[in-house]
Amino acid sequence: MEPLQAVKGMRDILPEEAELWRFVENQAIELFKLFGYKEIRTPILEKTELFVRGIGDATDIVEKEMYTFSDSKGRSYSLRPEATASIIRAFIQNQLNQSQDRKFFLIGPMFRHERPQKGRYRQFHQINVEAFGIENSMIDAEIMFMATEFLRRIGIKKDVELEINTLGCSLCRPKFKEILKDYLVKFEGELCPDCVRRIHKNPLRCFDCKVQTCKDTLKTGPIIYNYICKDCETHFKQVMEYLSLLGVDFKINPYMVRGLDYYVRTAFEIVTAHLGAQNAVGGGGRYDGLMKDLGGPDLPGIGFALGMERIILLLEEVKLNSNNPDIYLILLGEKPRKKGFLIAQDLRKEGFKVEMDYEERSLKSQMRTADKSKAPVALIIGEDELNQGVAQIKLMNNGLQRIIELNNLAVELKTLLR
Ligand code: AMP
Repeated sequence: MEPLQAVKGMRDILPEEAELWRFVENQAIELFKLFGYKEIRTPILEKTELFVRGIGDATDIVEKEMYTFSDSKGRSYSLRPEATASIIRAFIQNQLNQSQDRKFFLIGPMFRHERPQKGRYRQFHQINVEAFGIENSMIDAEIMFMATEFLRRIGIKKDVELEINTLGCSLCRPKFKEILKDYLVKFEGELCPDCVRRIHKNPLRCFDCKVQTCKDTLKTGPIIYNYICKDCETHFKQVMEYLSLLGVDFKINPYMVRGLDYYVRTAFEIVTAHLGAQNAVGGGGRYDGLMKDLGGPDLPGIGFALGMERIILLLEEVKLNSNNPDIYLILLGEKPRKKGFLIAQDLRKEGFKVEMDYEERSLKSQMRTADKSKAPVALIIGEDELNQGVAQIKLMNNGLQRIIELNNLAVELKTLLR
């Protein structure tokens, strides 16, 4: 008899990998508790209506990705495709508004009927975080700080990037939707059939389209930032200010709208270049108004979800690269070689993995070895640099090069590499 297989897009987590999952979960729980988040667990199955109302019926998730079925009495249920709507339902139903609990985390399986590929499954797992009742932009920045800090703690550092955007609010977004619609209608002939349909149903969804001609059309179109109201602008500026205050690196991506309808103002995504097409490790945003829409008190909310499988894939990738040196020293000439020899020992004492060229080879061949070593940074020291007390620092991923003071080397390299 043919042995049975797991359902397509659903996988077993075997012991070795499960250990890594446990480590990641424990790190998350430990960190989130420092910020005042408490665990909540909700059922995997909910009434379909919760997701239709909570996520939006013009979203990909609700339109085509939910596992929905009816019971014998004809009531429609769905496996949860995300956690925010469920957590809000639980908050309302259990009248948690009467307690002091406003910050929650949930770790567990989600279900979406998507085409499976690397980093994309039909049963996947999320680490979710939600904070209710705080309108101030400080929480937006803090929650993003917490997400990036979590990834840093488990060993994912320079491999991810935080992208942020503002989506306006119920006052200014409708105006932008109209402007976007008017623009897209003019280019209808160049858009894919899905986007043509989206123009009238929900034109913002076009920003999520992966078809190149649609992307190109949107790149020359209006962006929401230019149409948001004064309050949204102030909020966005404050978020960026607080992020900078907390030392969080970020990039504004004016085309990122996220797949769910409920976001207002802040939206963010954590992306990586290491996972191919599935480049989002996590994402989140603000959803003021959702709690009220779902029949609860009018409390603002903000949250994020990180994809467990993608974190594990990234960790494995990072681990594979963990034997690579941090820094490769390229030394040209007798004196620089001696000085570099000492610098290598000093940097190793500071905990950096340093590799250098011990032979007197040409710049070109040292460069080639530096490249092969996969060190993220090369330091180049020749006679000129030595006389000036500096080195050339080259970032190997993008080729950018600049001058760095030799007596400030460890400090600068720490901010660059950690
Ligand atoms: P979303 O709210 O859709 O942006 O999802 C948040 C995160 O969950 C994503 O950034 C992914 O890391 C993860 N995720 C979403 N869908 C899937 C999927 N089908 N398979 C694996 N991970 C997923």
